[in-house]
Amino acid sequence: MIYLDHHATTPPSRAVMEAMTTVMSGTWANASSQHAPGQAAKRALADARATVARVLGCKPAEVIFTSGATEANHLAVRGLLAAVPAGRRRVVFSAVEHAGHLKLARELASAGVPVDFLPVRPDGRLDLGAAASLIGPDVAVVSLIAAQNETGVLMPVAQVAALAAAAGVHLHVDATQWVGKLPFDFAEWGADAVSLSAHKFNGPKGVGALLLRQGVGICPVVPGSQERHRRGGTENLPAIAGMAAALSQLGDVNAEAARQSALRDRVERALSAALPEVHLWGAEVPRLPGVSFLRVGCWPADVLLQRLERLGFAASPGAACSSSGSAPSQALTAMGVPGDEALCAIRLSLGRTTSSAEVDALVAALPTLRSLLPAGHAQAA
Ligand code: PMP
Repeated sequence: MIYLDHHATTPPSRAVMEAMTTVMSGTWANASSQHAPGQAAKRALADARATVARVLGCKPAEVIFTSGATEANHLAVRGLLAAVPAGRRRVVFSAVEHAGHLKLARELASAGVPVDFLPVRPDGRLDLGAAASLIGPDVAVVSLIAAQNETGVLMPVAQVAALAAAAGVHLHVDATQWVGKLPFDFAEWGADAVSLSAHKFNGPKGVGALLLRQGVGICPVVPGSQERHRRGGTENLPAIAGMAAALSQLGDVNAEAARQSALRDRVERALSAALPEVHLWGAEVPRLPGVSFLRVGCWPADVLLQRLERLGFAASPGAACSSSGSAPSQALTAMGVPGDEALCAIRLSLGRTTSSAEVDALVAALPTLRSLLPAGHAQAA
């Protein structure tokens, strides 16, 4: 099976597995214990933190290890909201946040927190004019996805950071899909808090981090003495060591991005040639290198995906976390795409392990895919 779902998750690299095994068999003690094995675990934790900080351009004390990006997102929004003065209560999310994060937005709204959404344009880009009018002095936190997980469209982090700074508002950025795919430097981004997740860059699942600018106050969501009292719970050292190994292996991110976008462009050219009714979303604006979010006429996503799987390719209808139901993509809905078209969306996402030979195989399979599709859905409704 050729794996074309790297935005859902990525395979852990050999170095990641080795780093995790080393910790599990050697430094498995509790990093908070005072005895010698505990102190060895504490040193391993500090080493991993130093590596994460070096690669991501922050200070070790600015790294809060979490169970992944969902938790980091919660900690950022709830934790910053709880720590700011009572005059600032409003929270602003982009309308194209990850589905799990939009759930948090709705949960806050139903608990009585004033919540606003930053709209996007039909091409997927953020509407900066609307952002300027929605980010004001009563806002506690602005939460912005850096790169949309389905369309791959990049958001104007620097411009929103400037708006947030002018209004004295905390900016949280969900960089889960960005880190590992494009160059990232926390010190340069101008955000107070940034979420990331190791399994999106060939690290293990169930581990991530919230980078929190030094001096910014936050209330823990899960209280405890670990992580400088900002996140309780014994640190998952094997996973943290795996994440550090994945980050130290990133190498030349620009070169890898160029390689993936060349492969992606080849896929898109071949798709348009074999299936002229293909429609791509986000293709006209800056987006992540390896992703194509598309529909083929109005063939329902599940039909297309079954046929692709029969031909040996694993892809998805969009975010794995929201793909079990038949609700249209919230990102497409925010872009004004009608529900029937959005239900035809599939996402092909390439990654670091995608080879040119795999893309050749996909390109070669497209004429067969066309012959496998039932007649009658060629045109969008
Ligand atoms: N944010 C974005 C943009 C994501 O793509 C994902 C994962 N699909 C998450 C958050 C959630 O990450 P995790 O699986 O680490 O909780």
